[in-house]
Amino acid sequence: MTVTSDATTSGPDRAFYQALADDALAGVELSDARCEQLLLDPEIELLSLLHAAFEVRRHYWGKQVQVHILNNAANGKCPEDCSYCTQARTSDVDIEEYPMKPDDEILAEAQRAYESGAFRYCMVFSGRGPSAGRAEQLAGLVRKIKDAYPLEVCVSAGLLDDDKAAVLAAAGLDRLNHNLNTSEEHYGEICTTHTYADRIETLRAAKRNGIETCSGLIAGMGEPASDLVEIAKTLAGLGSESIPVNFLLPFEGNVLDEPVGLTPEYCLRVLCMYRFTNPAAEIRCTAGREFHLRSLEAMALYPANSLFLEGYLNATGAASNRTFQMISDAGFDIVSDWSVNELLAQHDGVDVASEQPVAIGDKSAVKTLDQLRPTGAAGAASAKG
Ligand code: SF4
Repeated sequence: MTVTSDATTSGPDRAFYQALADDALAGVELSDARCEQLLLDPEIELLSLLHAAFEVRRHYWGKQVQVHILNNAANGKCPEDCSYCTQARTSDVDIEEYPMKPDDEILAEAQRAYESGAFRYCMVFSGRGPSAGRAEQLAGLVRKIKDAYPLEVCVSAGLLDDDKAAVLAAAGLDRLNHNLNTSEEHYGEICTTHTYADRIETLRAAKRNGIETCSGLIAGMGEPASDLVEIAKTLAGLGSESIPVNFLLPFEGNVLDEPVGLTPEYCLRVLCMYRFTNPAAEIRCTAGREFHLRSLEAMALYPANSLFLEGYLNATGAASNRTFQMISDAGFDIVSDWSVNELLAQHDGVDVASEQPVAIGDKSAVKTLDQLRPTGAAGAASAKG
């Protein structure tokens, strides 16, 4: 059989891809139409696009990969109705619910995260937002962690006003996470108990008080590509230092349980578009890395420079040693006080995240109590309910 090369392709030439990188590095904003083209045009060559995104990523981040570990510090029982979330009051996903973990458990998990190679430790608290008293409690925790470990600390605690943001800023909080998730126009279709404007105002309160922001999206919730472009540009306008790019995970019992349009290639295109529109930001490939990118997972490191280890809030992720090996095999460097060989040795045979698959059938696997509370499972049973 004779194989001929297709010399008649009418797709973009090399200059097109080079211009994407050059413009991003020169601070020239991509048009909305060009961003949509990057997501949808079948003539776009994935490897050329990834190479252009990598030029931008390399300029700001070299080949470094930051590894983040989440602590799901209070799980479930949320009065809000975010339809993608396993903790929403509208969700029937069978998760392990518990109120806020005690301080000593959270501190033990911070130590474990540091020793596991984490650069950043992210504490996530379900709920609409903290009371004034809870904000003071969170500030105390931030102080204790910052005093004990050389970790960057991020808190995700729902809606915040200036007073609460100031309390957290005074404690030394490095970052506040609060995702936009979807566009303003689409917001009412995924949540009715708070508004897009509430979320924007929380991010502005953090900024006004000197806290870096981490804010991103969830692709695959039925939004048009133009919405992903709008979110990217809104985040650029807000100056979000960190952008987690999530791909909707399908949980049995969730209101939104069918991701729309998420192929591995589309996910990579989304990551590249976010790199071009937010060139200096920390772009994190988050929920869905394993589930949706599948065999192309390592390619995400070309546009993205950070990821989560040990899964997501209630979803399992790849075993830590597999993730470290993937980063190393692809020629990237893990930002950690430990070498990759030390990290691999630490996780050899003791990787609790490997005890459960990422998917069960066509749905996401849900974390066990041991995975959610690796240092406090014994006490967790009594807290459940
Ligand atoms: S406010 Fe947060 S925890 Fe509550 S349902 Fe929405 S995303 Fe989930």
